[in-house]
Amino acid sequence: MKFNTKTIHGGQQYDPAYGAVMTPIYQTSTFAQMSPGKNKGYDYSRTLNPTRKALEDSFASIENGKFGLAFGSGLAAIDAVMKILRPGDEVIATNDIYSGTLRTFTKIFEVYGIKFHFICMENANEIEKHFNENTKLVWIESPTNPMLNIIDIKAVSKVVKKYNALLAVDNTFATPYLQRPLDLGADIVMHSATKYLGGHSDVVVGALVVKNEELAKQLYYIQNATGAVCGPQDSFLVLRGIKTLHIRMQRHCENGEIVANFLRNHPKVEKVYWPGFEDHPNHHIAVEQMNGFGGMISFVTKGSTCDDAAIKIVERLKLFTLAESLGGIESLAEHPATMTHIAIPKCEREEIGILDSLIRLSIGVEDAEDLVADLAQALG
Ligand code: PLP
Repeated sequence: MKFNTKTIHGGQQYDPAYGAVMTPIYQTSTFAQMSPGKNKGYDYSRTLNPTRKALEDSFASIENGKFGLAFGSGLAAIDAVMKILRPGDEVIATNDIYSGTLRTFTKIFEVYGIKFHFICMENANEIEKHFNENTKLVWIESPTNPMLNIIDIKAVSKVVKKYNALLAVDNTFATPYLQRPLDLGADIVMHSATKYLGGHSDVVVGALVVKNEELAKQLYYIQNATGAVCGPQDSFLVLRGIKTLHIRMQRHCENGEIVANFLRNHPKVEKVYWPGFEDHPNHHIAVEQMNGFGGMISFVTKGSTCDDAAIKIVERLKLFTLAESLGGIESLAEHPATMTHIAIPKCEREEIGILDSLIRLSIGVEDAEDLVADLAQALG
């Protein structure tokens, strides 16, 4: 089955009860048993629910994995992965990961005795010197949030395998339409399905996909034991969103390219971060491992590193909504320094490029001309 077909049919079957073509919302906490322990495959919705199961099978299918797991948020999915680890284990992570991931790593898991090394992974050879016998997990995002750096997943996975560690990739920005990390050697794919997979900014859900059965068993155990699952209604919404992922992503990419080029040629814009530009430092890797460059763009306004020009611009936007999050059908703008990445101290933020003059855009599927006109008036 090819990708576009998988988004609609992957892991899906007609509902066995009445033949409903679309997966019903099984809004139930528990299931009748014929005799103790004898049931129709489901006993309690934290452990398994038919609507969530359909979503989990869809996740597995579109990411070319074997086992999918759905959680109550992207961070709950990350939390489940971290619970595989034990005190004394070490993790190597990208230095410009999503700030919520950084927060959970440093404020929650560091306290339980897990050690983190945050490093720049744009050159995959660099990571090897941070490995030791305690290294159990490497965590990467590509493209990164919000700097749109590209990490060579295949090259990183080669190093990770040498040390018998696991490689987890947050594939939220790319989606499996553009990039399938398991095919590139990753062990775990994670998503904030809140974003492109859901696609309509109406739900908060997380996803994990793996190929290895032992790893899947560990993660299912953690999912059931800690209980951060997503409900049937949310599962239904993401399942419905995935059915149009390929069509939406195509338009996100087309609009992304138009907006990125408009910004690049604008006199009030200093720099545009978008992996589709040939002079993006890892454009060649993006070409190699992605099927397009996506609809996420960050840009720096000219000559305004310490004033509030960027804030004025996002306030002036009319069609773009000033809001956190990304990956919905509607275009969003945000100011990372005071919104999504405010938890990172200013000096650390600036070291990785998140200046006060940086604006992040999530380009939606509207008419590109309207998006450009809105940016033009806001920049003007
Ligand atoms: N990973 C990335 C790249 C994100 O952008 C986000 C949220 O913005 C998350 C993980 C966390 O996902 P959620 O908000 O669904 O918990």
